[in-house]
Amino acid sequence: MNKKLELLKTYFGYDSFRPLQETIIDQVIAGKDLMVVMPTGGGKSMCFQLPALMLDGITLVISPLIALMKDQVDALQANGINAGFYNSSQDSGQQQELFAQLRTGSLKLLYVAPESLPLLQEPLRNTPVSLIAVDEAHCISTWGHDFRPAYTQLSTLKTHFPDANVLALTATADRATRVDIMHQLAIPHAQEFVASFDRPNITLTVRPGNNRLPQLRRFLEQYPEESGIIYCLSRATCEKLAAKLSALGYACEAYHAGLEHRFRESVQERFIQDTTKIVCATIAFGMGIDKSNVRFVVHYNMPKNIEGYYQEIGRAGRDSIESQALLFHSYADVMQLRDFAMNSGNADVQIAKLERMKQFAEALTCRRRMLLSYFNEYLATDCGNCDVCLNKPDFFDATLLAQKALSAVYRMQERAGLNLTIDVLRGASNATVLDSGFNSIKTYGAGKELPWASWQQYLIQLINQGLLEIAFHEQNHLKLTPQAHDVLFKNAPVRLAVIPKPEELAVQKSKATGQEVLSEVNTDLYEALRKTRTQIASEDNMAPYMVFSDASLKDMASRIPLTTSEFGDISGVGALKLENYATAFLDVLTDFSMMRKGSFVYRDGNKATKSTKSRTKRTKGFDTAYESAKLFQEGMDVEAIAATRELKPDTVLGHLGSRYLTHKDVAVHDLVAADLLGLVVPFYKEYKENNAVKPIYDQLGGAHSYGSIRLALHIVEADRLV
Ligand code: ADP
Ligand code: ZN
Repeated sequence: MNKKLELLKTYFGYDSFRPLQETIIDQVIAGKDLMVVMPTGGGKSMCFQLPALMLDGITLVISPLIALMKDQVDALQANGINAGFYNSSQDSGQQQELFAQLRTGSLKLLYVAPESLPLLQEPLRNTPVSLIAVDEAHCISTWGHDFRPAYTQLSTLKTHFPDANVLALTATADRATRVDIMHQLAIPHAQEFVASFDRPNITLTVRPGNNRLPQLRRFLEQYPEESGIIYCLSRATCEKLAAKLSALGYACEAYHAGLEHRFRESVQERFIQDTTKIVCATIAFGMGIDKSNVRFVVHYNMPKNIEGYYQEIGRAGRDSIESQALLFHSYADVMQLRDFAMNSGNADVQIAKLERMKQFAEALTCRRRMLLSYFNEYLATDCGNCDVCLNKPDFFDATLLAQKALSAVYRMQERAGLNLTIDVLRGASNATVLDSGFNSIKTYGAGKELPWASWQQYLIQLINQGLLEIAFHEQNHLKLTPQAHDVLFKNAPVRLAVIPKPEELAVQKSKATGQEVLSEVNTDLYEALRKTRTQIASEDNMAPYMVFSDASLKDMASRIPLTTSEFGDISGVGALKLENYATAFLDVLTDFSMMRKGSFVYRDGNKATKSTKSRTKRTKGFDTAYESAKLFQEGMDVEAIAATRELKPDTVLGHLGSRYLTHKDVAVHDLVAADLLGLVVPFYKEYKENNAVKPIYDQLGGAHSYGSIRLALHIVEADRLV
């Protein structure tokens, strides 16, 4: 095996390099200056961390994110790599300790804030520096979106450290910024590497912004214990949303610039530690957060440009596991962002960028293709993992519908905005309509058969198809385009996309990422592994994702390693983690596997020892529930399942209940009497304490079977009726 791959496995536990990593590492080792552009989560750190292990001297890592340096160093140390950091947050004792390490030459990597670099000149005098990695390198450029004055000091790196090569890393794609970075860092001839910006494991979804909260709730129900970020436009929305979600039982906090600095840091800390699962944040949150298990990023409001949107959704799924990016698109947001843009320094550019963002949100073609084309990258085929690809919209003949709308605009002499147009179409008699006098036009009420929200969607589609325009300089009035005249007067056909129903959001599942989906049976195991991880993390005072990433846990849950050597094959298990954690996780894994075997023995009717028998009971419920649920999903009714599986119908009902509770993918409501749900609610708490159905059965006078009662209890829990 070559040296690089050996180090990759020993220290990081990975078997292969991501695209471009190996080429970049080779060039770094060869002593070249490089400019590397990779999307967030692309694996930039490996490009200097691995060379640091191979090079003789020390590797300096310049990073603007003081708050995160400790995390990065902890993560390296958990992998057995000796790293340190130097910044203004340390006391002098800590700094002295670091200098001592520098003298002995034991450090491989040293993270330093740009403003602290001059203070390191002296301590570094006798330490050979072989490589300098400048992370978030766009901060040096005023062209970039995040200029930091302290970064300008880095222009002298090449003079101060003539023997070190410089590796600039950023996720900012545009060419002007890149050239500027190289110029500022005095590495004009650096070779450039630009990795693909595609993040195929992130499912892209855009939803209309009406009824956001119920839609969001349905969405979140799919990720009960997972981490996620919800971006909002205003501080007030952050606060309100966080409060609502907390009231619903989510471990959720707000994060915005109005909060006190130390408190904000503590929110970030709790998020990294997995104690706060969801953060409702303004855009300030997440820059440089290195948390690999963010499962979803929601834009509760529309972002102002595609760069920002892409950077923010990039914080999901750094571990390459399936993740979700959900964007709510509302007309009101666009209007508000437009106002901001108008008042900004370079209004034209901002407005053009907002326009692109809006086009993305309204696209009826593959969203990923559109997104990547924005970064000058072209996919040969549709991605198969965006809402458009997953639910190709059905189009219908909307000629008549369009004619009604266009005719209303025409008869109002193009003097109404979107909302008023809808009101007039629907025959509303509110003050605005009456004041305008538009209640007397011929098309008044011509569209009352459609709900308000549907009209809104259809009008937006008409705008996108170029049949209507918004006159931004005339109070946002709707105007007809030349094409509209063909529809109105020449009967040119119009086709519009059917609006997907909100429920469809919950069932949408990625089909094409190629990522393995956990086999159903092992989700229990996955949960158990997660618990072990949390426990270890709190004992060792580190973030759970540093113990193992979600990707590693999923790998364990699907391969179920049972020996130390099998455990060593799991992705993310390097030598030190094998030594430190194998025992704890193998305990959970062997326990699980024995329980499974136990259940097998038990079901075959062979003798099982007492202990396996009681263990069996624990898992049997799970395995067997899955089997019943599968048959049910395939269309068998309860009686038939019971007959096939030689079980009592009551048992099958219980199975479907537990399945509904964990997965909500079986239609169980028709299986219980309508009033039973209400009847069991008062008993729910007691049932949870004793896990006994008999008292309820007795109280209800034996009118409902045990199975029905158990099912009803599961339903009320799953539907949050209790
Ligand atoms: P970036 O800095 O580009 O945003 P990171 O360096 O934080 O990305 O890497 C993102 C995630 O990918 C990390 O969890 C890292 O451990 C993981 N990773 C990096 N390289 C590999 C690899 N070759 N195989 C598997 N996972 C990797
Ligand atoms: Zn697509």
